[in-house]
Amino acid sequence: MLSIDLTGKRAFVAGVADDAGFGFAIAKALAEAGARVCVGTWPPAFNIFTTLLRRGKLDASMALSSGEKLEFEHIYPFDADFDTLADIPEATRESKRYKEHGDVSVAGVAERMRAELGEGCVDVVVHSLANGPEVKNPLLETSRKGYLSALGTSAYSNVSLVQRFGPLMNRGGSFLSLTYLAGERVIPGYGGGMSSAKAALENDTRVLAYEAGRRWGHRVNCISAGPLASRAASAIGFIQEMIEYTRANSPLPEAITALEVGATAAFLASPLGAGFTGATLYVDKGYHVMGKAL
Ligand code: NAD
Repeated sequence: MLSIDLTGKRAFVAGVADDAGFGFAIAKALAEAGARVCVGTWPPAFNIFTTLLRRGKLDASMALSSGEKLEFEHIYPFDADFDTLADIPEATRESKRYKEHGDVSVAGVAERMRAELGEGCVDVVVHSLANGPEVKNPLLETSRKGYLSALGTSAYSNVSLVQRFGPLMNRGGSFLSLTYLAGERVIPGYGGGMSSAKAALENDTRVLAYEAGRRWGHRVNCISAGPLASRAASAIGFIQEMIEYTRANSPLPEAITALEVGATAAFLASPLGAGFTGATLYVDKGYHVMGKAL
């Protein structure tokens, strides 16, 4: 019988700070398949997330089908905007939400994992984060600073993760990021350079698949997910409209669930996905194939 078995594997899922988004659903699906899961949480959200966990507020979402509870092996404070400690401005490093955490950069977390868990300590790395300070601005009204910030946080951070985690991972490792149709089609309202960031993320997936494949034997893929009312998406302001529009116009007229994205991520990370690399997989009820609104 074919089954998704990640027993003995370890994952690092970057971009988990509550139980509503894709990162959490992916972390849970990987755990359901038997993987040990570490997560990376943005420092400004770290205390809220760990307090919710400690107080049992997320217990219902943490319940696994085995009856056990999802346990994160480590929750690393992680800021994908910074590649090394030296890149973190002193004012940020000394601020209330960062001071206690030390080196939260991409290299810092990779080093911490190497020191705590040893060489070859990771098999699966998931990039489930994005941020664009001017996302509500049309591209015509986006500043250079806002545009580059969206690209840096939402696309370059994935390059940085592959650079720094590639050498740490066991051969045959799996990298995954989350993209959106706005990277290839026009979605009015998804502005501030975020659509450009998703286009970059998808192109980088192909180039990184080639480079990381040849260098380490790792695979690099992305999932183009349909709309979900996560915290980040809700902040953009028109997510319910997008969910309804997509549902009404998709071959399968249903909203996607985070669980479906989690299951695809687990499949991609498993030996069953060994032939996939450089791919953008659509988990969107088929919406991307439509050429006419219904
Ligand atoms: P989410 O709110 O669950 O996840 C976004 C996470 O990014 C948050 O945990 C936030 O703390 C983190 N983050 C922001 N800036 C960061 C930084 N500098 N360093 C580290 N973490 C940072 O929302 P989500 O919608 O599940 O987003 C996950 C991914 O899915 C994103 O790449 C998003 O673009 C993508 N996506 C979302 C949708 C959707 O409709 N929700 C659709 C397609 C793709």
